[in-house]
Amino acid sequence: MSKKQKKVLIRIITSAILVLAFHFVPVENPYIRLVLFLIPYLIIGYDILKKAGLGIIHGKMFDENFLMALATIGAIILGEYVEGTAVMLFYQIGELFQSYAVGKSRKNISALMDIRPDYANIEKDGVLEQVDPDDVETGTIIVVQPGEKVPIDGIVSSGNSTLNTSALTGESVPREVHTGDEVISGCVNLSGVLRIQTTKEFGESTVSKILDLVENSSMKKSKSENFITRFAKYYTPAVCIGALILAIFPPILCILVGQPANWQLWIIRALTTLVISCPCALVISIPLSFFGGIGGASAKGILVKGSNYLEALSETKYVVCDKTGTLTQGVFVVTQIKSVGEMSDDMLLELAAHVESYSGHPISKSLKEAYAKELDLTRVSDVEEISGHGICAVVDGQKIAVGNVKLMNQLGISPIEPPATGTEIHVAVDNSYAGYILISDLIKPNAKAAILGLKEAGVKQVIMLTGDTKRVADVVAKELGVDITKSDLLPADKVSEVEKLLDAKNAKEKLTFVGDGINDAPVLSRADIGIAMGALGSDAAIEAADIVLMDDDPAKIATAMKISRKTLRIVHQNIVFALAVKFACLGLGAIGYVNMWWAIFADVGVMIIAVLNATRALRQND
Ligand code: ADP
Ligand code: MG
Repeated sequence: MSKKQKKVLIRIITSAILVLAFHFVPVENPYIRLVLFLIPYLIIGYDILKKAGLGIIHGKMFDENFLMALATIGAIILGEYVEGTAVMLFYQIGELFQSYAVGKSRKNISALMDIRPDYANIEKDGVLEQVDPDDVETGTIIVVQPGEKVPIDGIVSSGNSTLNTSALTGESVPREVHTGDEVISGCVNLSGVLRIQTTKEFGESTVSKILDLVENSSMKKSKSENFITRFAKYYTPAVCIGALILAIFPPILCILVGQPANWQLWIIRALTTLVISCPCALVISIPLSFFGGIGGASAKGILVKGSNYLEALSETKYVVCDKTGTLTQGVFVVTQIKSVGEMSDDMLLELAAHVESYSGHPISKSLKEAYAKELDLTRVSDVEEISGHGICAVVDGQKIAVGNVKLMNQLGISPIEPPATGTEIHVAVDNSYAGYILISDLIKPNAKAAILGLKEAGVKQVIMLTGDTKRVADVVAKELGVDITKSDLLPADKVSEVEKLLDAKNAKEKLTFVGDGINDAPVLSRADIGIAMGALGSDAAIEAADIVLMDDDPAKIATAMKISRKTLRIVHQNIVFALAVKFACLGLGAIGYVNMWWAIFADVGVMIIAVLNATRALRQND
């Protein structure tokens, strides 16, 4: 509990004891009685009265402080001292509880995302010195000992170790790193001492980016939250007017028909409605639920950039997936090399690997892997990557093109069609055909279960888009149980395919695109929700997507949907529950069946129950 919260608690206890004491001590003199009761009332309520006063001065008078001030001052004027003070007392208890719950889920989220490094070690004259990671310049060598977090992104300059990425991905598969490997901040070093040459500043490192993203996610409001804000704006003044009418009209009516007016009774009923109708349960519990949902998701390595996306995800009916790197591992193995003319198979691979030297495409990575030797970058110049086609570059003075049939056709070459199925990488040297490399990709082990999971989560259609050939695409689609497959697409074609789907569906159903963030950023931003996976270490993916899966497990898509649905369920429960209790009490209050004590329950009790329900969103344990 914070200092501020403790202070409120002391005020609550003091005020409660005083009210009880004065209630049971018979004081005959009415003025002394008033003064006595004003003490606990002001102890507990002075800040609310002050806020209400400031609200009136600033023209923003209709808030819950105003409702509370009006109701309690009214009660005290009518001599209902205990009730007036009790309303303030319970209101403060509710507020205290709420601030405690918010603080607690905040703390939970940062504990769940326990990735913020406190320091970086720098070696000076053989001794380690702890410095603020913010002060470490790019290119500095930092030392990370076993048990410590990697504070800044960089490359291992010496040492071998295993890293635990579970704080980032929610998955605890240790990763081995050796000299020369890239490491990402936020991982925990498990075994050996690592010396890391930083490649970024702290503010640009993965940890900072992720923490920024999680912390700013509450800025993007969901429809439900916006609804409540607008609702409260009209609701509170309406309630005040209603209360005024209730206080004035029935007595006047009584006078007109020649009955005693009974002002006291009706004014108390009016004040009771004010207490009942305070909207705080809704105003607080809904953002808190989203906050919890986003926090629970991040603990599973799913970063959601705003409550609006979490809400939209729960309405997803169409999921469009990229193939390579999303449903398949994107780790290709070379299955056949076929060179023609004077070219040897080894030379073909060597040229292809060099052309691909600068690319980060999965195909490129596997060609370099297959080549296995050190690349001589001085041999390569004029590199041009043509999205969805391949790469052209000059190697050893020759113009080499490496890519698919489309690229070859552009050069006026008709390549050989390989006999086996696989992704074909054709190579041309100085505009004449030199052969092909056949590579094949493996389907991710849980891709099939992932698609089944989506169907179970209520997705109508799963659509696979790929730049690969139809033959390869069909094999994958059949194995996975994808509903629709579109192949031979350029990145721009993927955008138009998604646009077609967006036009065809009805506006209530949302379309989610899942990609790996490599050359599919336009589609990620065009879809209702863009999910990038395998984002660990890919800045581009983190920027372009609305939801980021830290690792590349497709099953996380269904997990994210489950979390979003649970969160939205909680939000709806809270709205219905709070409004139902309030309206029921309002109705009964107006005709005198609900006294001030019930009104207090309707306000504070409902808030506490709603907040407790909201904190369930944080616990995502399945
Ligand atoms: P996907 O939709 O499967 O992610 P891409 O749009 O990334 O595919 O690429 C589509 C096709 O373009 C690949 O199947 C490949 O034939 C060719 N291609 C793309 N990039 C490269 C590259 N770096 N080297 C060779 N071929 C490439
Ligand atoms: Mg791709």
